[in-house]
Amino acid sequence: MDVAELVAAVGEGGLACEKADKIIENVLGTFSLPFAVALNVQVNGEDFVAPMVVEEPSVVAAASNAARMVREGGGFSAEADEPIMIAQVQFDEVPDGARACLRIKQYANELIALGNTAVPGLVRRGGGVRSIEPRYLGDGMLVVHFHVDCRDAMGANLVNTVAEAVADRLQELCDGRTGLRILSNLCDRRKVRVTCCVPARALASDDFDGIEVRDGIVRASRFAERDPYRATTHNKGLMNGLDAVAIATGNDWRAVEAGAHAYAARSGTYSPLCVWRADGNDLMGELELPLSLGTVGGPSRVHAGAKMGLRVVDASSATELAMVAASVGMASNLAALRALATDGIQRGHMALHARSVATAAGAIGADVERVAAHIHGLGDITIDTARRVLAELSRSTTSAPPPAE
Ligand code: NAD
Repeated sequence: MDVAELVAAVGEGGLACEKADKIIENVLGTFSLPFAVALNVQVNGEDFVAPMVVEEPSVVAAASNAARMVREGGGFSAEADEPIMIAQVQFDEVPDGARACLRIKQYANELIALGNTAVPGLVRRGGGVRSIEPRYLGDGMLVVHFHVDCRDAMGANLVNTVAEAVADRLQELCDGRTGLRILSNLCDRRKVRVTCCVPARALASDDFDGIEVRDGIVRASRFAERDPYRATTHNKGLMNGLDAVAIATGNDWRAVEAGAHAYAARSGTYSPLCVWRADGNDLMGELELPLSLGTVGGPSRVHAGAKMGLRVVDASSATELAMVAASVGMASNLAALRALATDGIQRGHMALHARSVATAAGAIGADVERVAAHIHGLGDITIDTARRVLAELSRSTTSAPPPAE
């Protein structure tokens, strides 16, 4: 598809009903979400336009705004591990766990080669099984991890194929009963790390100077580091941006979410994935999480929206896409903390939410902004008020909005 065809297809939701019916079961229709782009995203000195699919008002504007602040400090610096996913092959009733682990290690080369025969296309592209790791879990239960380099794929199907291909030989070696053969979504060998350094002056608002805002963000970060209730919402704000990029590029956001939250809880206490500190006159941010995104495979083959998302971001590899998506997540986190540390989240959020409410009340075209501005000015962002304002607007012969009460 050329760009014009993609743009037209995205305008219609990106997926025709006949195709949707071939992707999942019992299809009634399709379900559209807004497709937008975040601007100002600079990662490792390169500019990216980040595609975002999200239904929540203000996420895109906030991420773009925070990315602009980060840009003033040189943009995001990101690095990522090789795209290694973990296949798990489980056995029960293993008579001697220590002996089984030893035998599996002795036959590691044979097992790696056997796994690779199941994914010849991946091996041809430079990927494949890199190493194996037997783990005895006690009570006769053994699990063997196959570490598979999935190159530009998310890798779930590839890894599952490897897990199934090696199970019989492993069973002979460990003498147990074969259990599950599937990837782990805790892909902690496929982590991405992002840092940024924002000059405090870039954080200033009309009512707060930059250092005040910077210190408020640092206090908010410490709150999240001490309290899982806060850390959950802190991470949700981060995932607002990251998930939106994952969805826009046809990636499995449930896999991304599962891995992120498991990683956030790895110490036994649920913790923030991104932390913020003061450094001189700057704000320093640090983010780390496992991230399995692909630029090939999955819905990207059939969904015009996903194709468009990949075209827009134009990442050179799955690893680069992960670095951009994580940077957008970091921008979302920064935007939320900056708002919370200053005016509170509602001021900006409700202004944008008013547009959704105006639309839900039936406003179209220029009336959306007029009704939204009015109900926001009234401080009463409800459908009933929006309907009343809209009715008054349509009765009015001029285009002036009705007076505020
Ligand atoms: P996939 O099954 O589409 O496989 C990727 C294909 O792309 C392979 O055939 C591979 O050889 C090919 N390919 C072409 N160019 C490549 C390149 N440069 N690098 C790597 N491979 C290349 O996709 P997948 O990534 O194996 O699996 C992703 C799908 O699996 C997602 O749709 C996901 O929702 C689903 N899934 C997820 C889970 C889970 O997360 N628990 C479980 C099952 C399935």
